[in-house]
Amino acid sequence: MRNKEKYILALDQGTTSSRSIVFDEAFQAVGTSQKEFKQIYPHTGWVEHDAALIWQTQLETAKLAMASIPIINIGAIGITNQRETTVLWNKITGKPIYNAIVWQDRRTSDFCTKLIDHGHSEMVQSKTGLIIDAYFSASKIKWVLDNVAGARKLAKEGVLLFGTIDTWLIWNLTNGKSHITDVSNASRTMLFDIHTLSWDQELLNLFDIPENILPTVVDSGGALAVTDADIFGAEIPLTGIMGDQQSALFGQLCVHKGMVKTTYGTGCFLMLNTGKEVIRSSHKMISTIGWKIGTELNYALEGSVFVGGAVIQWLRDEMKFFIEAAHSELLAEAAADNGGVFFVPALTGLGAPYWDANATGAIFGLTRSTTKANLTRAALESICFQVNDVLNAMNQDVDFDISEIRADGGAAANSLLIQFQSDISSVNVIRPTQLETTALGAAFMASIGLGINTIDSLQQKWAIEKTFTPTMESSKQSHLIKKWNKAVNRSLDWY
Ligand code: ADP
Repeated sequence: MRNKEKYILALDQGTTSSRSIVFDEAFQAVGTSQKEFKQIYPHTGWVEHDAALIWQTQLETAKLAMASIPIINIGAIGITNQRETTVLWNKITGKPIYNAIVWQDRRTSDFCTKLIDHGHSEMVQSKTGLIIDAYFSASKIKWVLDNVAGARKLAKEGVLLFGTIDTWLIWNLTNGKSHITDVSNASRTMLFDIHTLSWDQELLNLFDIPENILPTVVDSGGALAVTDADIFGAEIPLTGIMGDQQSALFGQLCVHKGMVKTTYGTGCFLMLNTGKEVIRSSHKMISTIGWKIGTELNYALEGSVFVGGAVIQWLRDEMKFFIEAAHSELLAEAAADNGGVFFVPALTGLGAPYWDANATGAIFGLTRSTTKANLTRAALESICFQVNDVLNAMNQDVDFDISEIRADGGAAANSLLIQFQSDISSVNVIRPTQLETTALGAAFMASIGLGINTIDSLQQKWAIEKTFTPTMESSKQSHLIKKWNKAVNRSLDWY
């Protein structure tokens, strides 16, 4: 018998760290633990993780986060994870046959370019909602099958399994009993038809991937699996699974069509809930599955900015402007405005809506009177200009106006940044009390899957800290946007 108290354990497996948070029934965090793990860069453009270490750090943080809570009070587990990252393992030994190939890894870029040149973009986009790119799992799986000795033989023998990180964690949590993924993660593999909700044979043929290595696709919320009793000392139901950005969208309760969230982290990730409809972008946005709970299926439109908070990190670590990212706000406040400085932070090329890998970072408008404060302000503003570009592109893809966005992520704590976003985009920006929305989303989903909450009941558990409203004169706004566009154009195709 379980106790009446229903705490939820959220496992948040990110790109640089594994985190676990125990939420109480009011969704307050009562136990937290986080461990960073090593990033492996074998060659330029390659990024790998040790999959065994991912599991180990995730398990350790889960046990630490639960340390002060009787296991009997943990009602369920929700998982959210870095998306697209690819693991293949031997189901008999339980050992990965190669490191996890991380979403950032570019080793299959040339192969993807060939697919585009051979005219496969239309078929791939119409089925998966995705733009052909090395980012997604399919070409990474193919790389492992083609380059790891014996991999295809193992697949033929039926002992090879593929999974994104959710699948890998669940397989370990259930001691090999469940080989599953949810629809949101499946929709990032480039093998999944987001309309029919099934693995697609034509795509499997295109990438030369055998279907028998793929996990079973399940809902994002429900009775999805049960952990093996040996892992935590008792069985715990697993009732929520979602990729990280989808989870943040859910954690922001952007549960209705037209609602948008922006995560201001290392990069900026925008997601727009498009309801039951797959909206096909004409502006290089990605269509993806948000989540599925029973018969309720939610789609989303997504656009990503590569360098968001990372530009502040760069000012901190390379330029030594300040010691902590949070100090950027104070420093920027020391200047009345950007002093005519525009910073295009294309430090790793430009993402949506430009998709220009050859753009480089550039700073325009420097004069004798330019100060550190001006530059810092320009860097913060650059985050918002980029988000604004994605918002504009999204706005053109839909038949309604986006008038409000919900903000989260580390840099969302910066009020100067959020106010500028509101000003430059003419939207209300809502900052919730809980900025850890990725883990919160997984906990929300798990509580629905466990049957102790509904989307409606969750509304009472989500609170606004502050709403930022636009105050900028439109003439100033259009002047700034004009200058930004000019600066971006000069940094395109520079490399
Ligand atoms: P991630 O999950 O991508 O690692 P986080 O959501 O933890 O990122 O946010 C960290 C990023 O936000 C870093 O790039 C950091 O430079 C930036 N950041 C954190 N706090 C602030 C702040 N107060 N102002 C501006 N940028 C910030």
